[in-house]
Amino acid sequence: MSTQPVGTRAYLGLGANLGDRAGALQRAVNSLMAAPGVEVVALSGVYVTEPVGGPEQREFFNAVVALETDLTARELLELAQRLESDARRIRHERWGPRTLDVDILLVGDTRLDEPDLVVPHPRMWERGFVLAPLADIAPELVHEPASGVWRGVRRADVSLVLPEHR
Ligand code: AMP
Repeated sequence: MSTQPVGTRAYLGLGANLGDRAGALQRAVNSLMAAPGVEVVALSGVYVTEPVGGPEQREFFNAVVALETDLTARELLELAQRLESDARRIRHERWGPRTLDVDILLVGDTRLDEPDLVVPHPRMWERGFVLAPLADIAPELVHEPASGVWRGVRRADVSLVLPEHR
């Protein structure tokens, strides 16, 4: 399987709105740290986000993670989907798929437009719950809103931590 040069910078968006939301995000970070070919290099703050549209549901916890990786965008999608299914298996199976949502936001300068994988993530630039945390760790990529406030997004009083490096 082809890989990109070691050290491609990638950004993943994490979201959870069921059960132990901060715990789900932290477990995802721990699993990323343990994944071969992936180094977690920065963590955003955790943001509380009002759900947009859809049925009535709890607020989301969202964060963005920066990686250095030699995985391709597709390999990152496979890893993301494994983390999502692990999160469902560990807890809350009956509640369905939003225990953990992992989006591939950016993978170096990769551009992909395939039926099941679009990179950069096509809706990331209009989502405050992506841009607010992304601005924490990659401010050069994000235009802050003129008000300085992301609508429907506020900082949570919890933080993610990087487990000790091996
Ligand atoms: P959602 O449940 O809304 O996060 O959508 C997940 C689906 O979106 C998956 O089946 C992926 O194949 C597809 N998808 C397309 N582009 C991306 C991306 N950049 N990151 C994550 N999922 C993606």
